[in-house]
Amino acid sequence: MNYEQILNVVNLGVVVFDREYKVCYWNRWMAMHSNIQSQTIINRPIFDFFPDLNNPIFMRNCRSVLTFGNLIFLSQKLHKYLFPFKLIRSGISPMEYMQQSCTMGPLRDSENVINYVFITIQDVTEIVSYEQRLRELNMTDGLTGMYNRRYLDIRINEEFKRHQRFGRPMSLILFDIDHFKKINDTYGHQCGDYILQDLSSATLSAIRNVDILARYGGEEFCCLLPETSSDKSVLIAERLRKQVMENSFRWNDADVHVTISLGVSVLTAGIDSPGALIERADQALYQAKDNGRNRVMLFDGGSYSEKPTLKTGIHEPENQTSAD
Ligand code: GH3
Ligand code: MG
Ligand code: MG
Repeated sequence: MNYEQILNVVNLGVVVFDREYKVCYWNRWMAMHSNIQSQTIINRPIFDFFPDLNNPIFMRNCRSVLTFGNLIFLSQKLHKYLFPFKLIRSGISPMEYMQQSCTMGPLRDSENVINYVFITIQDVTEIVSYEQRLRELNMTDGLTGMYNRRYLDIRINEEFKRHQRFGRPMSLILFDIDHFKKINDTYGHQCGDYILQDLSSATLSAIRNVDILARYGGEEFCCLLPETSSDKSVLIAERLRKQVMENSFRWNDADVHVTISLGVSVLTAGIDSPGALIERADQALYQAKDNGRNRVMLFDGGSYSEKPTLKTGIHEPENQTSAD
């Protein structure tokens, strides 16, 4: 019986090489994905074609197979791939190379002497892509693509622990679109959705890479600012406010303007939980709304301070909305 008939049709790469790393077997799957025909690679050292394999980890694994007859499983989660095969079906995944799970093991001759190593290669790109997509869905908001509240909560907890251990500063901005219900009522819910999306991009461009901006609820957003003191966080909040105020959202030939109100809280000695930090930002936000909207309020050890930049230019959406 010629078992090669099976090895040449399985959806799996199969390679065999000897103690000198010369290839003895190269199945059709390997030929198809590598573009190297069996007759080209047979009897040649595998490193001539895949020089990156000549690395300490791979060599150690080969020795372990040849010396002890061990079976080694190489999960994609650790090594991503063994053989760099560019993906044939582009579009299924943002990954450039096929993700692989591999098994290495010994082949013994009739005297039970190990003279060969076999490797099987399984293409797990599709599973990895789905896993990646699921992870993204789990931490991002469907409408805006921003981080969601679940992810934000995880990050706030992490940053809070860092603060407790190393005393690092941290601030939080909570902001909410002013009179958003009126926008929906005037222009329709679809316009509201569009503004949420566009506002997300506009505000993302106004923060630093280290800051985490998330959609916290309907038209409410939260920005976590690690390593940031109160002065700096108020400046960032002010930048966000201006960014939104100066942005015009184009909808069906109309320039729609919106404003946001922002509450800022800073992690200080009296705050014993991440929830307390959010609660303070929420109270500051409530005060910003109460004091006329389109402004930044800082929760400052129990008192609220209004930032002076807001004396002019307070600007309600109903007054600023103009049709072309
Ligand atoms: P305030 O200035 O006090 O925040 O007034 P507001 O009208 O923004 O606040 P209110 O809480 O009364 O209304 C919030 C509105 O946000 C109502 C709700 O329909 C709208 N909203 C929440 N989520 C979405 C969404 O995903 N899409 C759209 N289009 N609207 C949303
Ligand atoms: Mg609102
Ligand atoms: Mg709200």
